[in-house]
Amino acid sequence: MGPELSAALDRVLRSGQFILGTEVAAFESEFATYCGTRYARAVASGTDALQLALAGAGITPGDEVIVPTVTSGATATAIVRAGGRPIFVDVDSRTLTLSVDDTARHVSPRTRAIVPVHLYGHPADVEPLLEIASQHNIPLIEDACQAHGARVGLRRVGALGLAGCFSFYPSKNLGAYGDGGMITTDSEELANRVQLLRQYGWQRRDFAEILGFNSRLDEIQAALLRCKLPYLDTWNERRRQIAHEYNIRLAELAGVQLPIFDAGDVFHLFVVRVPKRDKVREGLTERGIDTGIHYASPLHRQPAFSAFVGSGRSFPNAEAACSEILSLPMFPQLRIEEVDMVVRALRAELES
Ligand SMILES: *Cc1c(COP(=O)(O)O)cnc(C)c1O
Repeated sequence: MGPELSAALDRVLRSGQFILGTEVAAFESEFATYCGTRYARAVASGTDALQLALAGAGITPGDEVIVPTVTSGATATAIVRAGGRPIFVDVDSRTLTLSVDDTARHVSPRTRAIVPVHLYGHPADVEPLLEIASQHNIPLIEDACQAHGARVGLRRVGALGLAGCFSFYPSKNLGAYGDGGMITTDSEELANRVQLLRQYGWQRRDFAEILGFNSRLDEIQAALLRCKLPYLDTWNERRRQIAHEYNIRLAELAGVQLPIFDAGDVFHLFVVRVPKRDKVREGLTERGIDTGIHYASPLHRQPAFSAFVGSGRSFPNAEAACSEILSLPMFPQLRIEEVDMVVRALRAELES
């Protein structure tokens, strides 16, 4: 994409406009169209997208927000920074997304939002979660930071609840060349509020209507992301193909638990579960294969969030998963010979 990206960069450099300009406005409009929402508002990161969406939805100090305990720490950080109190909930044992049953158990009159995470690019079970949210008259705000382009039926994530929150961190399915984030919504009120919040609460220049933040996307990132957006579906399709190739080859390996394959999944990560994970991972590293763990510590076990974990809570599915999950190489440019190599190495490690 070199020439295309260079031309976009050059266009911005010559424009003399670097923050919240025509590139950002165009990218917002293109991204909203892509997701199938009326509005999109660009911000400085995925964490900020979550924080501003929650603040914009009216979360005030002490409000409880339901969040899965298996996710990036960024999800809970944004809730706390917005003034909310994260209520950690266990995950489904197969998909590792927010458990519907455990959500139903922990939703209370103090709950002001539900934040499911489309973990690894797999859409959370939003239908029943939306039902719980509507029974309690509270919004569902999607953490779609790992799931650009994922679908539930014909609808894209980001268009399923009150708001969708995206990150353009370089390693995401749609990655910038620095930080960036986006909030998608059909709510004009929320879009307007986020627009005030992201720039000092300004209603017009130098006139603060509300207390805001500084969380803006810059023109260079927007221009580069605009070049990449038209390729996103092709890259996601390629990720699904690679996942399919992994699944075929790994099905015969005893002890390996495969991810659930869903047509709407965009495989940000390809996460299997294996016995003796740490030993297997070390062996793969020695064979030159880089793997990851997403995530080794569920949020309820991290010191920053310990104040929010009620006594007597247990998270059996999260606990069981965290010692077994292993993220295998997954990116659109991965070749099938390389998938073969990974599988051969994994087989050797499991048999050793
Ligand atoms: C990456 C990520 C975030 C945070 O995005 P940043 O752009 O790094 O702030 C939040 N939630 C999830 C699930 C993520 O993967």
